[in-house]
Parts: sequence; structure tokens; C-alpha cells
Amino acid sequence: IFSEVAAKNNQTLFIVGGYVRDLLMKRQSPTDIDFVTEGNGIELAKSIAKELNPKLKVSIFKNYGTAMFKHEGLDLEFVGARKESYAEDSRKPSVEIGTLEDDQKRRDFTINALALSLNKENFGDLIDPFDGVQDIKKKILRTPLEPSQTYSDDPLRMMRAIRFASTLNFKIEENSLNAIKNESERIKIVSLERIMVEFNKIMLSAKPSLGLKLMEETGLMQLIIPELTALKGIEEVEGQTHKDNFWHTLEVVDNISANTDNLWLRWAALLHDIGKAPTKKFVDGIGWTFHGHEFLGSKMVKNLFYRLKLPLGTDMKYVQKLVKLSSRPIALVDDGTSDSALRRLLFDAGEDLEDLFILNKADITTKNSSKQAKFKRNFEEVAIKIKE
Ligand code: ATP
Repeated sequence: IFSEVAAKNNQTLFIVGGYVRDLLMKRQSPTDIDFVTEGNGIELAKSIAKELNPKLKVSIFKNYGTAMFKHEGLDLEFVGARKESYAEDSRKPSVEIGTLEDDQKRRDFTINALALSLNKENFGDLIDPFDGVQDIKKKILRTPLEPSQTYSDDPLRMMRAIRFASTLNFKIEENSLNAIKNESERIKIVSLERIMVEFNKIMLSAKPSLGLKLMEETGLMQLIIPELTALKGIEEVEGQTHKDNFWHTLEVVDNISANTDNLWLRWAALLHDIGKAPTKKFVDGIGWTFHGHEFLGSKMVKNLFYRLKLPLGTDMKYVQKLVKLSSRPIALVDDGTSDSALRRLLFDAGEDLEDLFILNKADITTKNSSKQAKFKRNFEEVAIKIKE
């Protein structure tokens, strides 16, 4: 039906973007398909929808020149092929009508610039002007056009590069990575909501440290969440050092991600030590201390959620609570349990007790196997007492 309607309207039609990429990568079933036509995308969407089912509701976004409707559980989005040019101060391009190739050129990465023809003369052909198929095989993220220009035009692409690197486990090609390092400051023209959509996709990837490390390496972490980069580094006084809490945090986030898909529990892991940079002190006779870091940390969570335009309701309160209690069970497990301490923990953690334990287990990054075994034993002991 799609091809026939397009042909009847004298328009070409292609599937582009993530659907084609995921098809070639044999990734999970899709939720949306993007179509490009050389001609009017809105009119074509309406004609196809009408042919499929005259009652179908087509949503039209005039400003973007796009239209979409739902079909067999999928969001189908249509756009007319376009050519884009950018101004210095905005990531909104000015748009002209273009060819399929113009449209492929405006895409962020070669792996997202593949088109699948739905036209009679070459139905099913893959149109791959920038060697995206090779890049899928090599697991490389590369931009179709010159990288500095691509990232400077729309700096959100820097976050998208890191997001795809993290979710697909791809490498960012060297020129691209250098361009991101050079252009990182341009991220400030992008809205925080957009940045956080990508950031949360990094947080939900199987191994978020892949993306978090790239953010650190490119300078984006310092610009977006400086509270985390403040945890970097090891100091030494009188021969005593403390662990590097930034790298430790990444390990904790990976550990917890192996055990939960709960985004906010992963966030609690990311932020569980943020109070440590401002509370760090060396005390004679004791060594490095971070006294009260959990309390300060949970206050910092609120500021950070506010600044990053993250939800300020129950999700934030949950993260605050976990950060505040983050080392309580570990302390309990380490020092031996007293009944009153247990009761307080049960009271303070409430229904989030299990999540707090998941966080605590993830927080044990010691390589010392006898220490690990001791923690495991004591955790089990605490769990039994709690059941009692
Ligand atoms: P996923 O659905 O896994 O997030 P996707 O590739 O479908 O991946 P979308 O954000 O839905 O991601 O974008 C659809 C397509 O639009 C992309 O494949 C890409 O071709 C193009 N695209 C999206 N955002 C940009 C951008 N900022 N710059 C250039 N092209 C983009």
C-alpha cells in the first residue's frame, strides 16, 4: 500500500534512520519508523493513512513539516526530504526542500543515514552513500559530513554520539571524538530537557560507565554535572590516600545496572557520593574523613535535580532518601548490628529498604576477596535479623 500510494502521488518513499540501523543490527523490535519522501510528507502521510483506514487519525506538525499516525502498534512518521543550514546561535536549522541525498547528509551519524527504498524500480535496495553498513560492522560512530561542523551546527549530537556509543557499545571515531572535545562548550545552546533525555538513555544502557567515561573525557561531564567531576582525583597526606570517588562511582553505577533497570535507583548510585568532595578532610590520627557527606549529598541532590530540570516529585525524594541512607547498612554490616540501629534503619528506609540494599551491595567495590566475603556474610546476617 505504502509504495502504491507514493507512486500514485508521483513521490518517492524511503524508510530511514533508526529502524534501518536496528534492522541491520538485528536489534529489538521497533516502536517507530521514519519515512522520507521527495515531496510533501504531510500530504503523503494523509493519503497513506486514508488508504489503510479512513478513520485513522493523522497528527500534523506543520512547523516541522512532519505528520504521524499509529499503525499496528507502531508510530509512523513522515517527512519531506530536506536540506538544512544552521545559524551560529541556534540548533534550529533553516530548511529547504531537498533530495533524499540532502536528507541523508543532514543526519547525525552514518549508521543513522541509511535509507531503504520502497519504490517500485528498486524496492528493498539499501541506499548507503556514507558507508554506514561498514560502520555498523566496525561498530563505529562517524558523521556523514565534517565532524566539527556537524557538532557545532547541532551540539545535541555530541550527547547523541555518546548515547549511541553507550547503548550500542560502539566507538566514536577519532576525528569525531576530537571534535566533541573542541566543541563541548557549545552544549550550552541546547536545552537541559534535551540533554537529559540523552543522559537518561546513557544511564539506562547495560554499562553506563561507557557513556559516563566519554562524557568525562570530552569535558561534557564537567559542563553538565560538575558535582561528579569534583569527585575525581586522589590526595595523599602523611602517606594516606583515599579512593578516587569518581571512578568508584562509575563502578557502582555499572554494578547496580547489572541488578536493576530502575532509572532512579541508578541515579541514586550515580549521586551516592556527591557530598564527599565538599566534606573531605584529613584529620590527624584518623585519616581521610567525609563526615556528614550523606546529609550534604542529599541536599545537593535537590539543587542538582532543579538545575538539570529533572522531576522534582517522588523520584527526587526517592533519590534523596537513598543518598542520605546510602552508607547506613554498610556501616551496620561493618560494625556489627545493634537492635536499635536496625530499628532506625527499618524505620528510615521504609519501603525502599530493598533498593537501599541493592545500592549498598553495588557500593562494595573492594577487590579484596576476604573483605568481600565478610560483607556478604554480614549482609545476610542483617537480612535475617530484618526478617525476624
Ligand atoms: P532510537 O529510536 O534508538 O533513539 P533513532 O535513531 O530512531 O534511535 P531518533 O532520535 O528517533 O533516534 O531519531 C531518528 C533519526 O533522525 C535518527 O536515526 C537520525 O537519522 C535523525 N536524527 C535525530 N536527531 C538528529 C540530530 N540531532 N541531528 C541529525 N539527525 C538526527
